[in-house]
Amino acid sequence: MKSRPDCPGCGHRGLSAPFCLPRQPVVLNYRFRKADDAAHIRRRAVTLRQCRNCGLVFNATFDINAIPYDENYENRQSFSPAFQHHLDTLAAGLTRRNKLAGGRILEVGCGKGDFLRLLCVTAKATGVGYDTSYEPREEPPGLAFHKRYVGAADVTQPFDAVVCRHVVEHVPEIGAFLRELRDIAAAAGDPVVVIETPRFEWIVEQLSLWDVFYEHCNYFPTAALAHLCRLAGFRVVRHRGVFGDQYQLLELRVARSARRNLSTIIAPGIPAEAKLGAFSRRARRHLDGLAKKFTQAAGGAGWAVWGAGAKGVALVNHLRGPKPRCVVDSNPAKQGGVLPGSRIPIVAPDDARLLRLGLIVIANPNYAREIGDVLQQRGFSGRVLTL
Ligand SMILES: [Zn+2]
Repeated sequence: MKSRPDCPGCGHRGLSAPFCLPRQPVVLNYRFRKADDAAHIRRRAVTLRQCRNCGLVFNATFDINAIPYDENYENRQSFSPAFQHHLDTLAAGLTRRNKLAGGRILEVGCGKGDFLRLLCVTAKATGVGYDTSYEPREEPPGLAFHKRYVGAADVTQPFDAVVCRHVVEHVPEIGAFLRELRDIAAAAGDPVVVIETPRFEWIVEQLSLWDVFYEHCNYFPTAALAHLCRLAGFRVVRHRGVFGDQYQLLELRVARSARRNLSTIIAPGIPAEAKLGAFSRRARRHLDGLAKKFTQAAGGAGWAVWGAGAKGVALVNHLRGPKPRCVVDSNPAKQGGVLPGSRIPIVAPDDARLLRLGLIVIANPNYAREIGDVLQQRGFSGRVLTL
C-alpha cells in the first residue's frame, strides 16, 4: 500500500515523520469461532503520520477495503455497567440540552442500533439508523434501520438530531466525510449534530499504544477535530471530554456563512500535549516493560487480560514474549470465541480457569472498579493490575 502524501482532513502536505507498526491485525472487533481463523487473520502495517497544519494523526497506508464491516463485526460495550452509565448520561444530556423529547433522531453509523434505541426511549423519540454492520431483528415501533451507508440524498424529512458516534475514527477521507455530514445536517433542517470519538491527548497521557490499531485510521487531538468540523462548515456549540476524558463529545450546528469564510479559519498546528513523535518513543518503551512486568507479577501461575474489545486485542498483539492464557469479556457474543490475531480463548467472567491465575490485567481503567468487584465476589486471590 502506497503512503499518502497529504492530510485526509485538511489536504496539507506538510506531514511528520512516519511511526510504523508492522503486521497489525486488520480487524479487532470481529467474531472468530475457530483458532485457525483467528490466528491467520489478515495483517497490514499501520503507518501513523501527523499533519503539521491541523494536527490530525492518521494511518497513511490505510486501506478500508481490508476491513470487513459485516454482521460479524461486533463492538458493543454496553455489557459493562460503567459503559452503560456513560450511554445513559449521554442520552439524558443530549435530550435535555437539545429538547429532543418527542422528536426524530437520525444516526449515521449506528452499529447494531443499541444507542439509537436507548436515545429514542429516553427522549420518547422516533429514529432512523444506518450501518452496514446492523443485524436485522424485530424493532419497536418508531424505529427503522438500514443496512447500508447514508448520504444527504437519503434525507428527505427533517430531524431533531443527527448522531454520529465512533465513526469518524474509521473513515479514511475524513474531510469529505465531515462535509457530507454537514450536507446531511442541512438536508435534515439544521438540527444539532453530535460526534463522539476517542481523544488523542488521552492516548498520549496514558502511553496506551494499545489504543492504536488498524480499524482506527484517524486519531484526533481536540483542536484538530474542532478545526476540521469548522472547515467542513460547522459551528462548534459544545466540545468537551467524556467517559473519563477518553472520548470527546462535540455538538455542532451548520455555520451559515462558513463557505465564504474558510480562509479566515486558523489551523491549530500540533499542540504540545498531542505530539506523535514524543508519544511513539515513550509508548514503545512503556510497552516493552509491560510483558516482563506481567510475567513477574503472575509468579508462574499465568495471567489473563480482562477486555476482548479493541484495547485488549491490540495489547495482546503488540506484546512481545509470553502471552496471556485467556482473555475475559462480559459480552456473551464474544465468549467462546478466539481473540483475533491469536489462539487465545475468550472466556466469560465466571470461567473456572480464572481462579487459578496469578494475575489479571485490566485493559481499560474505566472498568477497574466493576471488574475488581466481580473478582472479589468470585474469591480471586491473585493480583490485579490496571493499565
Ligand atoms: Zn491536516
